[in-house]
Amino acid sequence: MKPIIGITPDVEKNDQHFLRNDYMQAIIRAGGLPLIVPIGNVDDIAQVVALLDGLLLTGGNDINPLLFNEEPHTHLGEVSPNRDLFELELARHMLVEDKPILGICRGIQLLNVAVGGTLYQDLHQQNVGLMLQHVQNAPQAHQSHVVRLEKGSLLEDIACSERIQVNSFHHQSLKDVPPVFTVSGMASDGIIEAIESVDKKFVLGVQWHPERMALKGESVSLRIFDRFIAACGK
Ligand code: MN
Repeated sequence: MKPIIGITPDVEKNDQHFLRNDYMQAIIRAGGLPLIVPIGNVDDIAQVVALLDGLLLTGGNDINPLLFNEEPHTHLGEVSPNRDLFELELARHMLVEDKPILGICRGIQLLNVAVGGTLYQDLHQQNVGLMLQHVQNAPQAHQSHVVRLEKGSLLEDIACSERIQVNSFHHQSLKDVPPVFTVSGMASDGIIEAIESVDKKFVLGVQWHPERMALKGESVSLRIFDRFIAACGK
């Protein structure tokens, strides 16, 4: 049996669910069975979690800053409050059950907030000094900036390298990361690009979009999905 991977869609204006095909294709190629999990009733989450072997938290809107005890910054983007609440509970239940989670872009931010972490609501406005362009003006799979990986981390093991190049489509980023996670990847401007669990089977968050590079055959991105699905199958 293939592992069943829950994928959370984005919620656009007028409450429409929206999910890019490249997430599904990356899961299918790696041997998983994707199951789209709509934004539903929080009371049903235990039943949803029982169905899943793994969870992919996808990209989307900004996270409501009230969830990490901040008021909205001038440059906060659009938020999806119902998606936030549902996904936070979903992520927390998966963590309690020690079921694998891969968080992508907004997904790494959601993971961090789920355990009490904080975010930069707009990383370019809230950081001083020389910053990289984290909202790249380039094609989806273009690897625009470098991420240094922590030696001995899960991600370094997956990448087989301490230095990778990633795409970048985010204006928010992680600020404070609670000790249940370790920072395993960082950009040269100090922006956190990857976190992972210190004690769970497989919990990995990346700030970039490996699913867009995987479809172009980029090897590190392919291996991220391979290792995630392998962990879900155990
Ligand atoms: Mn970036």
